[in-house]
Amino acid sequence: MLLAEGYVVKAVPFVPDMAKLAARVHLAPEQRPELEKMVEQAAAVACPKAFYRESFIEKREEALVVVDGIGFNSRLLKTNLEQTYRVFPYVATCGLELMEWAKSFNEDPLQQYWADVIMESALREATRALEQDVQARFSPGKTATMNPGSLPDWPLSEQKQLFSLLGDADRTVGVRLTEDYLMIPLKSVSGIIFPTKTDYNNCRLCRRENCPGRRAPFDPELYASRLG
Ligand code: SF4
Repeated sequence: MLLAEGYVVKAVPFVPDMAKLAARVHLAPEQRPELEKMVEQAAAVACPKAFYRESFIEKREEALVVVDGIGFNSRLLKTNLEQTYRVFPYVATCGLELMEWAKSFNEDPLQQYWADVIMESALREATRALEQDVQARFSPGKTATMNPGSLPDWPLSEQKQLFSLLGDADRTVGVRLTEDYLMIPLKSVSGIIFPTKTDYNNCRLCRRENCPGRRAPFDPELYASRLG
């Protein structure tokens, strides 16, 4: 099938929030100049970005949904996409530029950690820019997101189909998939944005304890109704 044109979205200039970063890394006052210097360097080279396209659902079966000719095997994804015919597959990344910059801190565990936190912040900016662009261009209203590998029902191996749907993500935004289905740069995220009237959130169906990224509490009733 001939895929529709996709869209590259760049979150530039990237202006890291120094106060948030300092709180996130529990910065001691005497460490501030060192972190400020790193933030300045990062801002000078960073180009967080995302790529997405508009795609259409062609078929749904028990635990399968076919999007633009590519099949995804997930009961939950199929359930979540029951009320829509249009979705937005995407990949967002901190960018190769920051990944290369961060390599210069490999010798120092503390600086390496700070570089990681700066790259995560860049990834958040890329995701925010992506969501704004989808709303501005397509007005889908309220949306939610599912990501391969975030729940056992939609395993990481389905990254292969998602990257097929996205086309050449390496060329468009510099993200490539390894044989183990990890993305390079590591500070990247991929998934499918879909319109919804519910408050769907992966975390409500995820049993992982003490996850620093949790955005909603585990919901046992929802889990039993969707996955039990
Ligand atoms: S709780 Fe953590 S691991 Fe589970 S879906 Fe949310 S962010 Fe992902």
